[in-house]
Amino acid sequence: MNFLDLIFPPRCGGCGREGVAWCDACAARVQPQPLATLNGMPLVAAGRLDGPLQQAIHTYKYRPRPGLASVLGELLWRATAASNLELAALTYIPLHPQRRRERGFNQAERLARALAGRLAVPLVGGLTRLRPTPAQVGLSQPERQVNMLGAFEWAATAPPPRGLALVDDVCTTGATLTAAAEAVARAGGSIGAFVVLARAQTLPALAVTLPGQSTCP
Ligand SMILES: [Zn+2]
Repeated sequence: MNFLDLIFPPRCGGCGREGVAWCDACAARVQPQPLATLNGMPLVAAGRLDGPLQQAIHTYKYRPRPGLASVLGELLWRATAASNLELAALTYIPLHPQRRRERGFNQAERLARALAGRLAVPLVGGLTRLRPTPAQVGLSQPERQVNMLGAFEWAATAPPPRGLALVDDVCTTGATLTAAAEAVARAGGSIGAFVVLARAQTLPALAVTLPGQSTCP
């Protein structure tokens, strides 16, 4: 038990039950997602953006629950392993510096760092968010795409490698992942796969379709 456990006793990130960071009942409600595609690239998701997983991701971002980071990292790693994709290096969706200061950490970076450790591949930082984008909630897919246009830039001195896997916590319309992938491409690299904890159930036309599979916006 670490120090924070004494201040914040473990509580399930999905349902609030005391005693564990993630209870068996919530774990059982995460439905593994088939591999989808976004803009022609594989999209790995550990589950759907609903129920306990959605709640756990929200809790992870806004409340101090030290145990939840490893739970979600484990979910992400399992989904990645099940996809059989060979990921050579990871990068992540950045927060605008102002929001990162407010939150104290970037949830996508933490997830990517944990996954990179499990996969023993490099984590390559370089994407920056050029402006604070308004919240996407409530926007249509076209509005989200406009909202995200030019939101990212690759700011590292070294250009991004090709075939990077891009990590974020959620994929709702795919607009954020798409805008970030475009920034990587502008800098001479490429995204070879997208990896998220959860994706929305209904994914617009922009994205996904392999036979028998669904789309991620
Ligand atoms: Zn629970």
